[in-house]
Amino acid sequence: MPSASERREELKAVWEQSRACTRCPQLASTRTTVVFGSGHADADLMFVGEAPGANEDKQGLPFVGQAGRLLDTLLGEIGLTRGDVFVANVLKCRPPGNRDPLPQEIDSCQDYLFRQLELIEPKVVCTLGNFATKLLRGDPATGITRLHGRAEQRVLGTRAVRLYPLYHPAAALYTRSLLDVLREDFARIPALLAEPLPPQPEPEPEEPPLVVPEPEVVAELAEPEPEPELERDPAQLGLF
Ligand code: URA
Repeated sequence: MPSASERREELKAVWEQSRACTRCPQLASTRTTVVFGSGHADADLMFVGEAPGANEDKQGLPFVGQAGRLLDTLLGEIGLTRGDVFVANVLKCRPPGNRDPLPQEIDSCQDYLFRQLELIEPKVVCTLGNFATKLLRGDPATGITRLHGRAEQRVLGTRAVRLYPLYHPAAALYTRSLLDVLREDFARIPALLAEPLPPQPEPEPEEPPLVVPEPEVVAELAEPEPEPELERDPAQLGLF
């Protein structure tokens, strides 16, 4: 069981690794910074958004624009600050023109998110919007409109957490009714945090070391195969 400080050091190593990432050649060539995520490295509550926008790309931090300010307000209403939680995204690089993440990009980037989940060890993971919800539920067919505000126990990588899908704050900025729903869903987060951690899956058994069997002692030496009669090339005799 690694300690919180060991996990934090490992998280820093994953961040370093992500900063040089070129798995998505287009995003690597258009980004200003890799937006790895920020917050408490041992947080009980983690938020997962979609992808950095223009402000995030410039500053290297997630949710620093208008949607981020709304996230801060909603956190404040339940007595939390950014320093209490960890905020990350499905994609660590900004898609040009804020286009939707491509399936190939989500696929290439998801290792970073799963490492973050494994190292931060949150109890509750709030997915913000469709991209994070579909990725972490492993179900591309069911969208946020049906799922928001309903917590479910899910195994993410090696750990069981309470997954809590929420509307994306950017959507709530433009539609008043969604903001009301998002606020009501946020109000249930403290109760979720107060619940115990869901039962954890059994750790995978360690692979037993490969045992190479001792060769059996051959009691009697087999009769050696007779040497094939070599056609001796007189020119080669004496070279070996
Ligand atoms: N929207 C997101 O999904 N993530 C950010 O970091 C900012 C806006």
